[in-house]
Amino acid sequence: MTDAKKQPVRNAAARRRYAERTAKRICTHCGKAPSFGASRCQACARRAYERSEHVRGLPVYGSEFTVVHAATGEILDNLEHWEDVVLCVSFAKLSFDDVEILQEHAPMRSVLTGFS
Ligand SMILES: [Zn+2]
Repeated sequence: MTDAKKQPVRNAAARRRYAERTAKRICTHCGKAPSFGASRCQACARRAYERSEHVRGLPVYGSEFTVVHAATGEILDNLEHWEDVVLCVSFAKLSFDDVEILQEHAPMRSVLTGFS
């Protein structure tokens, strides 16, 4: 909860602190590390960047699972999530010994994450 009456004071204090830190060339966020003329230090800038929509909004294409009945070779389902695979196997009244799970990574996955 914020006290509306104290807000302008708090903003003024924040602005003053920001100006002080900029003048000292230290990070305006953590107030410790040198910022080398930028507003934030490298660590804080990276943290802010990683929390931004630009990074978090990236669609991550997951893997796809194919559930194959081991005895018949019949494909029971193609599923995106491991949880669904577990449900599929249990709904079919099978155990993991009865099925073969083929896991396929989407082709873009390795490009986006840099590893496969
Ligand atoms: Zn910092």
